[in-house]
Amino acid sequence: KLYNQVQDLKGSIRVYCRVRPFLPGQLSSNTIGSIDEGNITIITPSKYCKEGRRSFNFNKVFGPSDTQDEVFSDTQPLIRSVLDGYNVCIFAYGQTGSGKTYTMSGPRIINEQSQGVNYRALGDLFNLAKERRGMFSYEIAVQMIEIYNEQVRDLLVSDGLNRRYPFFSFILIILHIEIRNGSQNGLNVPDANLVSVMSTSDVVELMNIGQKNRVVGATALNDRSSRSHSCLTVHVEGKDLTSGTVLRGCMHLVDLAGSERVDKSEVTGERLKEAQHINKSLSALGDVISALAQKNSHVPYRNSKLTQLLQDSLGGQAKTLMFVHISPEMDSVGETISTLKFAERVS
Ligand code: ADP
Ligand code: MG
Repeated sequence: KLYNQVQDLKGSIRVYCRVRPFLPGQLSSNTIGSIDEGNITIITPSKYCKEGRRSFNFNKVFGPSDTQDEVFSDTQPLIRSVLDGYNVCIFAYGQTGSGKTYTMSGPRIINEQSQGVNYRALGDLFNLAKERRGMFSYEIAVQMIEIYNEQVRDLLVSDGLNRRYPFFSFILIILHIEIRNGSQNGLNVPDANLVSVMSTSDVVELMNIGQKNRVVGATALNDRSSRSHSCLTVHVEGKDLTSGTVLRGCMHLVDLAGSERVDKSEVTGERLKEAQHINKSLSALGDVISALAQKNSHVPYRNSKLTQLLQDSLGGQAKTLMFVHISPEMDSVGETISTLKFAERVS
């Protein structure tokens, strides 16, 4: 409740910064000067900032030792509002290697402690739905898509071999689908499979399928996952058993493509095209969120597939949370400063 009041006062866009720890074997020096609640100071070479340091303010800053649990407990109230009929968007933004996938899903091998926001969010929704049993009945269903080079692809498609989900195992053909805002059944991507889920283990299974499909098309030298946006959408329909009122909410959990700038003089062909698409969609996202933050009357949703997809979950009554990720190494300081400037613009 308190959270919702604070939200109403401050608008519904929150920005959290998360600094990942040094990884084993990394020798570079540290760019993080200090972290204090919502403030972070970056030590920079003078070419980025004459003073040699620069501070940024966000709703909250998580340091290298903050756990998945701590990150989640600040996110939980937002997630819970989906059951009350709100639309929610949670983004992970940052350069490749800064910890986006770690925050949203977890490390490569996931245990209960290292689970990311996705698993915890779904687990929490199921628990809360159970607590409200008798007053509400809820149906929860998920879609999982990827946007690559401004094309949308369903990640929950299969060759039909999986027994538990007869139609969802792993993909053999890559199908492009369209975004259709205002479609009859209220789905923005009506052609992407919508799978009903009853428990966290259903979700884990589907996420594994989606993850497998995401890897199709990637090669050893060419990990496509860092250059596409992936979006897990959770649709919730709740019926108030006394009044019969039906509430619908949805939550998009988005692991964005890496925000690093590529050197145009060095990449050509496919890589250049990818880079241009990523650049365009991330700046379209930045434009939309900053228009909303400034309460502009015109919000430019139409400029990218990503913003079209999320249109009904950005602005209005919807709640948005952006996690911006940075790496602590001095080697990355240029990207770190540009990531934080992007985040400053949307907060
Ligand atoms: P991205 O998705 O932004 O490319 P990853 O999430 O894959 O980055 O993170 C890069 C590496 O750093 C992975 O090995 C990941 O497990 C590790 N890592 C990221 N954030 C953390 C964290 N907060 N604590 C521990 N390890 C992390
Ligand atoms: Mg990743």
